[in-house]
Amino acid sequence: MHRFDTLFLDRDGVINKKLDGYVCDFESFKFMPDALMAISKLSKIFKRILIVTNQQCIGKKILTPGKLSDIHNQMLSEINKHSGVITKIYYCPHLINESCNCRKPKNGMIQQALFDFPEINVENSYLIGDSDSDIEAGNSMNLSTVKVDNKYTLASWTRSLTNINC
Ligand SMILES: [Mg+2]
Ligand SMILES: [Zn+2]
Repeated sequence: MHRFDTLFLDRDGVINKKLDGYVCDFESFKFMPDALMAISKLSKIFKRILIVTNQQCIGKKILTPGKLSDIHNQMLSEINKHSGVITKIYYCPHLINESCNCRKPKNGMIQQALFDFPEINVENSYLIGDSDSDIEAGNSMNLSTVKVDNKYTLASWTRSLTNINC
C-alpha cells in the first residue's frame, strides 16, 4: 500500500490558493481544486506527509503563532474529514533578513524532519512546491521535486501518480 516514503508539501499555492497578501484567518484559506481528494489518495500511498511552509507573516507580526495554529488546526480538520493524514507541519516564522537556516530555499525544515523521523528514505520521497525556492530546497536534500501551478496542480500530479482518472 505505501509505495512511497515521505511527501513534503509546501502549503500556499499547493494545498491552498495563494493570495496577494497573507492567509490571516481560515476564511481566506481556500483549498486548491481537488486538493482534499489528492491528499486523501496521497495519504494511502505515502508513509507520511509533512508540510514545510515559509510563514514570514509571523516575523512581520501580521499573524501570531497561536493564530497560525488555529488556521492549521482547521485545515487539518478538513483534511481529516476527507480521510487525509498530515503527520507534521513545519513552518519558518523568520523574516528574510534574519538569514535563518529554515526559510526555503534553505533546507533547515527538511533537515529537522529527517532528525525527527530518522527512518525517512530520501530516495523514495518527494517535495511538491509552486516556487523555485521549494524546488531548490528539495533538490539540495536529494528529494525528487515537482513544481505545480494553477494548471498542473497537486491533484494533477496525484492523478498521474495513481493513474486514476477521476
Ligand atoms: Mg508556495
Ligand atoms: Zn526560518
